[in-house]
Amino acid sequence: MTQLWHTLASGEVLRALETTEQGLSKGEAARRLAVYGENRLPEAKTEGYPTIFLRQFASPLVYLLFVAAVIVYLTGGRGDALIILFVLVFNSIVGTIQEGRAQNALRALKRFAETNATVVRDGQELIVRDAEIVPGDVIILAEGAKVPADARVIMSRTLRADEASLTGESEPVTKRTEPVRGERASLGDRISMVFKGTNVTSGSGRAVIVATGIDTEIGKIAQKLSGIDTEMPLKENVKNLSRAIMYVVGIGGALLFLVGLAFGNAPATMFSIVISLAVSVIPEGLPIVMTLVLATGVYRMGKRNVLVKKLQAVEALGQARIIAVDKTGTITKNELMVERVWTPEALFSVSGAGYEPVGAFTLDGSVVDAANHPELLFAGKLAAYSASAQTMYSSEEKRWRISGDPTEAALLVFGEKTGFTKAELEHESALLSEMPFDYRLKYRATLHRDGDKNIATVTGAPESVLALCDSIRVNGKDVSFHKDWRHNAEAAIQGLSKEGLRVIAYATKRTEHKELEERMLDRLSLGGLYAMRDALRPEARDAVARAEAAGIRVVMITGDHKLTGAALARDVGILREGDEVLTGEDIEKMNDVELAHALERATVFARVTPDHKLRIINAYRKRGDITAMTGDGVNDAPSLVAADLGVAMGGIGTEVAKEAADILLMDDNFGSIVTAVEEGRSIYKTIKKVVLHLFSTSVGKAFTIIAAIFIGFPLPLLAVQIIWLNFVTDTFLDVSLAMEPKEKGLLSESFRGTGRYIIDRLMVVRMLFMTAPMVVGTLWVFSTAIGPDLTKAGTLAMTTLAVSQWFNAWNCRSETESLFRMNPFGNVYLIAATCVVALLQVLALTVPFLQSMLHTMPLSLSEWLLCIGVATSVIFTEEIRKFFHRRMLQNRVQVSPITA
Ligand code: ADP
Ligand code: MG
Repeated sequence: MTQLWHTLASGEVLRALETTEQGLSKGEAARRLAVYGENRLPEAKTEGYPTIFLRQFASPLVYLLFVAAVIVYLTGGRGDALIILFVLVFNSIVGTIQEGRAQNALRALKRFAETNATVVRDGQELIVRDAEIVPGDVIILAEGAKVPADARVIMSRTLRADEASLTGESEPVTKRTEPVRGERASLGDRISMVFKGTNVTSGSGRAVIVATGIDTEIGKIAQKLSGIDTEMPLKENVKNLSRAIMYVVGIGGALLFLVGLAFGNAPATMFSIVISLAVSVIPEGLPIVMTLVLATGVYRMGKRNVLVKKLQAVEALGQARIIAVDKTGTITKNELMVERVWTPEALFSVSGAGYEPVGAFTLDGSVVDAANHPELLFAGKLAAYSASAQTMYSSEEKRWRISGDPTEAALLVFGEKTGFTKAELEHESALLSEMPFDYRLKYRATLHRDGDKNIATVTGAPESVLALCDSIRVNGKDVSFHKDWRHNAEAAIQGLSKEGLRVIAYATKRTEHKELEERMLDRLSLGGLYAMRDALRPEARDAVARAEAAGIRVVMITGDHKLTGAALARDVGILREGDEVLTGEDIEKMNDVELAHALERATVFARVTPDHKLRIINAYRKRGDITAMTGDGVNDAPSLVAADLGVAMGGIGTEVAKEAADILLMDDNFGSIVTAVEEGRSIYKTIKKVVLHLFSTSVGKAFTIIAAIFIGFPLPLLAVQIIWLNFVTDTFLDVSLAMEPKEKGLLSESFRGTGRYIIDRLMVVRMLFMTAPMVVGTLWVFSTAIGPDLTKAGTLAMTTLAVSQWFNAWNCRSETESLFRMNPFGNVYLIAATCVVALLQVLALTVPFLQSMLHTMPLSLSEWLLCIGVATSVIFTEEIRKFFHRRMLQNRVQVSPITA
């Protein structure tokens, strides 16, 4: 297709694409979708199973085992070499299955993360997935929207786009509908076009799609748009751990080898023992088990309406200490309705529900007709002038919906209640110019033709608007805005704010100008105040309470008035006795150190701009508090990125905010963050359980051998037996432990994440409690059968260790809860895995092939009972430890409320 869309007039573009301003018909859109294909960029290919399988072999550990196999083979151990190879293949198969599952889970997550666009089809506004956009579609662009495909702008209300991702230009570009001359104009100069992958930073407009998918400019560069980031969390911790283990294994292995030789063992035997021990201590399966735990946990969160876009975020989730929430949209519904109107003459109340344009006005308790109150009509007219939002009745949802800013939609609806509809109004007095709401100035302005002069309407935060006024309109005349009037207006602002209402001042100015400029907006005449109610979200109070119970502090950030914010925060339990409210002005006066100090007591931040938000987030981080923060607007993006955990609302959030966030709440319910925190903590606990089992068993084996050498025993385990225990017995148990269901009470405790090495002190203590009886028991059982032929003794030792591993897996299910008090069927995978490994152990001792491979022999029933009996000691010691642990926790709980 042509490249010259930017040079054509918008009418020509529509004609060329056989479409109209009313959009395509639904049928035509479907037909074009079949012709042009989905509007997406090619994704990175996922790996197939054969590739994954082969990759399992590409690890230093496997190389080590291969070398060991060759050496074992050359020194005559044909069977041993074979079993090492067999186990390697087996391990790779298990690894492949796990990785494949993790990959599928991650792919399923990606499907959640699709972005949407608003299109006009059959004259109706629809929300469709970006992928369904076709050439000829007319799209609606609003602040914070992502441009879904390349399009020619056909309507612009100071539409501005951030095209840095495409052109590198960091300043937003203002878009116009007029054709751009020059066929070879650079992308940045084609200001009549918007491009896929860029964002609308302000204003609104419409555009007709000219190219989709790989035909778009970004598609031509074939740059991948950001989707889900699957970078592993805890990567650093795993790296630290692996490095530490490598040192221990390297030095320890060399020492063990020498000591073994000194005690008279053959070099070849010692070599293969050391290698197999090294292999079993190195947690090669850890990253993949972690991915599995993460992916399933994250998938579970997805089903509970929390989409984790960056796996890294899970790390912060479990440990979040502060949740900084936006008032608007998070604590409240962001569905506003004007409830009061203050004019110098009177204070009116407005009735109605939502955005439905019906309602009555009351003054001093009795219903009044707006027609008899010119000041109310004036307020209504200016409201309609000022609002750039639109409302429409959705017959499917049976309710009024809006597009655009809810504050402005509320103004629009109020205007309609007084009898002014925007369409009629703009027919008489055309819109000449418009300044969208500016977060720094905190007001917006429109310029309309009004009779033979032009009228500028300014609406915004009262302080900002009042500062621009030098007169006030009383009974239809502008009078001086002297001290008494100022005092009256300020008292009204305070009173309305205290009720939790969002107050907006409106003011006007007559002018000859045809373009709005910031510097001409002075010496305004104040008209009055609109006060709107934003309904509290019903779940907010409960969510705050749950967060507090989990040791997480909720703080509220708002651009609204201090009193409005405080009233709402008190209502939901965020602002309690002794807490402080900080305003943007206060923050302005502080340096970063003072700010960090002030955060101690502050739970509400009012009249803040996005820049303040960023400072607040950074100050929390400087204090070392892991901070989650919610945001929905374009301007929130920097703070969402800066926070440890950026959270965006999946429904009401803008596409830009969603892109910047780590986590999306698909149901727009901030209580879901708390749910996600619970899942995050659960993921951590599960990972710790698996790690504990992984290490307790391998450390147990290592110490059994080391102790045997020092006591002067023959070697209790052969290399193949170590490898069997590590790769067969452990693998099944670890994977099933990864499926352990969520513990109860994760939200009633404060939570500590994993340290630098994943392993914490408690884990080390538990490891001792689990391995000590294992080592002592195994050596004792071994010693009962030492003789010239070590097959029986070795079989006993190996079986004792295997059974201890089964039991340890059950021990690992909880840090504190007694094994006997937990639901035995809580984790059916563990039951299945235990049965499987028990069966495998029996086969290892009885099937002739395995017998000769593993150097084992059948055991009698009493010998089996001996092994099992000795292995139960690992349960006893851990139960005793758990008992004292519980006692300690109980004491702590009992002490604190009394002393507090
Ligand atoms: P919030 O965090 O509550 O969304 P904002 O920074 O958006 O805060 O708004 C700050 C103040 O600016 C509001 O209290 C209101 O008085 C005013 N305001 C907000 N949006 C608009 C708008 N679209 N038009 C006019 N005034 C607005
Ligand atoms: Mg806002």
